[in-house]
Amino acid sequence: CGIVGYIGFREAWPLVIKGLKRLEYRGYDSAGIALIGDSGLNIYKKAGKVSELENFSVGKNLSGTIGIGHTRWATHGAPSDRNSHPHTSNSGTLSIIHNGIIENYATLKEELLKRGHFFNSDTDTEVLIHLIEEIYKNDDVDLLEAVRLALNEVTGAYAIVVMDQNQPDQLIAARKGSPMVIGVGEDEYFIASDATPIVEYTKNVIYLNDNEIAFVKRDELLIKRLDNVVQTPYIQELEIQL
Ligand code: GLU
Repeated sequence: CGIVGYIGFREAWPLVIKGLKRLEYRGYDSAGIALIGDSGLNIYKKAGKVSELENFSVGKNLSGTIGIGHTRWATHGAPSDRNSHPHTSNSGTLSIIHNGIIENYATLKEELLKRGHFFNSDTDTEVLIHLIEEIYKNDDVDLLEAVRLALNEVTGAYAIVVMDQNQPDQLIAARKGSPMVIGVGEDEYFIASDATPIVEYTKNVIYLNDNEIAFVKRDELLIKRLDNVVQTPYIQELEIQL
């Protein structure tokens, strides 16, 4: 339902939590956050309000200048801690947040189960991160390409952000049928399902189009279409005030 991603020089946790609160008006049943810091990947997720996630996280390891957060409106799998996003791959290194529905998740899941994957949730979303991992296992495939190839096998609507513990300098975002905005800062990028979490930091935004995938580093942004054609990002100035 709500997506917030950050990569830059600020601490991601307070920024992502604040962003999730700005998205609360959309309605949701659970919230979660994943951060990559000194100790690697940390994920905290909870059924309930963002404030509950916040209270639950306090005192835990919250370091990191890259992170993703989600408020979930359950479509596949009941609202619960384990069905909350972010979801991870079996290697535990990849994480994903997702708005929308992966319609062919059951067929994909069957195939992945045969290949030895095991699942920790009942969501359609978790299937997608396993599919990405399966493709990413190939030596010559980088994360951007793995996400692109996986999305070419998916039907449904989505806005996603994917993060790899072993690539703490990049986020991959993509959309089809669900909104996604990228805020352009100086040596930092903000990703969100609408502009409300971003306006505080920058007025320069890129609205991702359907079938586009963004490779986001602190000082670099590349947008491709799912058919691999590179796109020229169109930066717009936001007019909304807080
Ligand atoms: N279909 C996903 C789920 O049920 C995402 C729902 C959402 O958009 O929040 O977990």
